[in-house]
Amino acid sequence: MIANFHTHTYRCNHASGTDREYVESAIRAGVKVLGFSDHSPYWFPNDYYSTHRMKPDQIEDYVGSVLSLKEEYKNDIKIHLGFEAEYYPLYFDKMLEMIAPYPYEYLILGQHFLENEKSHIHVVKPGLGYDALSTYVNECIAGLATGKFFYFAHPDVLNFGGSPEAYRSESLRLCRAAKKMNVPLEINLLGIRENRAYPRMDFWRIAAEVGNDVIFGSDSHKPDATALADDIEAGMKIVNSLGLHLIEPWEPKL
Ligand SMILES: [Zn+2]
Ligand SMILES: [Zn+2]
Repeated sequence: MIANFHTHTYRCNHASGTDREYVESAIRAGVKVLGFSDHSPYWFPNDYYSTHRMKPDQIEDYVGSVLSLKEEYKNDIKIHLGFEAEYYPLYFDKMLEMIAPYPYEYLILGQHFLENEKSHIHVVKPGLGYDALSTYVNECIAGLATGKFFYFAHPDVLNFGGSPEAYRSESLRLCRAAKKMNVPLEINLLGIRENRAYPRMDFWRIAAEVGNDVIFGSDSHKPDATALADDIEAGMKIVNSLGLHLIEPWEPKL
């Protein structure tokens, strides 16, 4: 693995280790390009506080830490500053305003909740039906259409429990939109590592058919989980068995 653009920090409340440990672990694993993409802060009305992301007052510390590591380790690894963010149509612009003062280099789309997070429908909840899937696909396509995202993390994260036909038609819609907008789709190595319900082969078969660009993301929430050989081997099995088009960019884009 040359590059991994999907890395978290303890600030999101569900990751551990220090920022430096992620960098040193990536260097040990032979990674040349490491992107930090911690869960972005988000603005919500009425004092709602999301526990899945850094707080607005932690941005400064996150940015400062990543930039100082970028400088300190510049001879060993190329570090990039990014965020993983949902597309919540009601609050997306406010989120962008919040991070605008900082020199971030990229955003990845990771849609973990439906309907602006207000309905608290987490997409990994087992057995979600057609309405949830369709809402997810609509929101993700609208997110991609903003042109703000470098790539689309775990596009197959929604834990759909309905018919294969419905899954196929909605996934086809999503893959075609990503292809048209030239946004790569991520095979999520955390899903492989923790034996989660994703990556889903029924989704990746469709991505192969559509001809999407595919990228690996470690989605590290622990320092030692970047570029693990077993994860990459399992990811390569998916790529090779379906004939997916794997890309390995050295630079993120905004
Ligand atoms: Zn996370
Ligand atoms: Zn992530």
